[in-house]
Amino acid sequence: MKITILGTGSSQGIPIIGCDCQVCTSPDPKDKRLRPGAIIEKGQTTVMIDASPDLRQQLLSFYNKRHIDAVLLTHEHRDHVAGLDDLRPIIFAQHKSMDIYALPHTLEAIKKIFFYSFEEDLYPGAPQFNLHPIDLEPIDIGQLHIIPIKIMHYKMEIRGFRIDNFAYITDAKYIPPEEMDKLHNLDVLIINALRRKIHYSHFNLQEALDTIDKLKPKKAYLTHMGHNIGLHQDLLKELPQNIEPAYDGLVINLK
Ligand SMILES: [Zn+2]
Ligand SMILES: [Zn+2]
Ligand SMILES: [Zn+2]
Repeated sequence: MKITILGTGSSQGIPIIGCDCQVCTSPDPKDKRLRPGAIIEKGQTTVMIDASPDLRQQLLSFYNKRHIDAVLLTHEHRDHVAGLDDLRPIIFAQHKSMDIYALPHTLEAIKKIFFYSFEEDLYPGAPQFNLHPIDLEPIDIGQLHIIPIKIMHYKMEIRGFRIDNFAYITDAKYIPPEEMDKLHNLDVLIINALRRKIHYSHFNLQEALDTIDKLKPKKAYLTHMGHNIGLHQDLLKELPQNIEPAYDGLVINLK
């Protein structure tokens, strides 16, 4: 299984427009963080987790192919779904609607945001989506067996995903104990860490580290980072050996 990290920034991305802090003005390419998402490939199957507003740029840079079998959405906030329209080249090349798996409230939001894709008299250039509601039942897509994980993002229930010994959790503020039980024995965990100060709807760095400590994955990568978390290189030095800040374009190969 191959995981390609498409973006690791928080909702505004880094650099933030007009910000002159040391992270937003850093020359290190690893301090440039597009909005979050990932591509998972196993055998002939490819799924994407979330569709960020930077999706066109991300696919051109890190996955320049016209093959995606399905999109798993964690939730409907715009930093996770705004790029769905940019899947058009892939939808047209594959000659079929893009399968989207998400919670019912997320799918309802998708119908509103991309209303022109759900009208009866469809405009010929509109992207077509095939919506699949999920809850906690495993999902089988090609060679991938996907276990949805219930996550609380302040008051909003959202989903993380476990695929084999890999899990992708973003925008978490709380993970219920029975869901934590589904996240043991991981080779790789991707988890959100917004900043150092506490935040009402996202784990800060300490909460992410505490969660990693409870789950004990072999390796953990941080994502959904804001500029306040600091420079990539500083964070890398400060973290324990098995934890690293992820960066855009990171590729993880798993047996
Ligand atoms: Zn987000
Ligand atoms: Zn900044
Ligand atoms: Zn969110």
